[in-house]
Amino acid sequence: MRAIVSACLLGRRCRYDGDAKPSAAVQRLAGHLECLPVCPEVAGGLPVPRAAAERVGERVVTRDGCDVTDAFVSGSRASMEATRAHGATLAVLKAKSPSCGVGYVYDGTHTGKLVRGNGIFAELLEGEGVCMVTEDIVESCRPSVEHPVAVVLGTGLGHLRSLVHPVRRIDYHDIDGFPADARPISGHSFEVTIGTVDEVPVVVYPGRIHLYQGYSATQVTALVRHAHRLGCRDIIFACATGAVKGNAHMGLGILTDHINLTGVNPLVGDSDLRGPETPFVGMTDAYSPYLRTLARGVADDLGIAVEEGVYAGVLGPSFETPAEVRMLQMLGVSYVSMSTVCEVIAAQALGMNVLGLTLAANYAGDGTVTHESVLEEAGRHADEFERLVRGILRLL
Ligand code: SF4
Repeated sequence: MRAIVSACLLGRRCRYDGDAKPSAAVQRLAGHLECLPVCPEVAGGLPVPRAAAERVGERVVTRDGCDVTDAFVSGSRASMEATRAHGATLAVLKAKSPSCGVGYVYDGTHTGKLVRGNGIFAELLEGEGVCMVTEDIVESCRPSVEHPVAVVLGTGLGHLRSLVHPVRRIDYHDIDGFPADARPISGHSFEVTIGTVDEVPVVVYPGRIHLYQGYSATQVTALVRHAHRLGCRDIIFACATGAVKGNAHMGLGILTDHINLTGVNPLVGDSDLRGPETPFVGMTDAYSPYLRTLARGVADDLGIAVEEGVYAGVLGPSFETPAEVRMLQMLGVSYVSMSTVCEVIAAQALGMNVLGLTLAANYAGDGTVTHESVLEEAGRHADEFERLVRGILRLL
């Protein structure tokens, strides 16, 4: 996987003050990638050290009023060319900088105040199909003992639990909010395993309950709240789905977004999940672009065929009718099943970083599909799925 990284994050002393701003998490990530350091300001011919500059509208101006926009633009263009030549799919950029900042930059008053917007280089990168993240995102996704990665596994995918070097197990029935009468369906297990996979701290949930079993949206999201209470910041949801013909094939997939067709929402009436000031939760980028990019990169590096697409969560338990399949095709849905959406909404409300993976074990609307045939198909992809998840965990 190829990436570009702001050189100052890697320890290069290229900042305006002649110093660097190294990030241990970024340096570690860069060590796993084919990584090209870039510094648009140095590429634009600016010296080190140099006067501090900030964006003022479309311009870049130093504290003493000198307009340095041309140097910033030419350096950003040169760095853009280097990015294309490198074939990077990920850019890890220094937050707030007038060149590299993503989402927020200093506001031009040299007082430390921020304004919405990108740096000049990030502005050029936008729309190039490169995932842009700041060091803050990389650091917030970095697992630790205090912040293990939660992995919630669906039908036929629970074998991943066997990879965990366990330190503790918890019965689902000891989890707050998990229904006492719930029993696992075939292919699921109701015992949390806490431990490590390849030395990465994880909490694995090898089964889930579903709305179609009569449980509420609050009950089906009990595992997500539990993971959050344990300190998990990253959460990987894996589910078996039906591929929607014309939009996806059977096999492994990365979820890019979802459509909630279940008719329920776990945030309704839940004051734990809804913020104190507003009942509304934004769902833009609910499936972390950064984690999706890492997953895609791992799959490509390992030669694992993986598609990407929108997931639709339905109530079930009946499978889709031909008319419903046609509707899903028209809606641009690639994968459909009876889980995951409520969990992702809950995780987003809790501020967690979500990665959605799927195994499309049949085609939606295929009248011959059975629970057993889903398990069989999952078994055929077990090795690839395991390699994909381990590769992602290693990169985090
Ligand atoms: Fe760092 Fe980017 Fe500024 Fe160079 S231009 S010092 S890489 S933030």
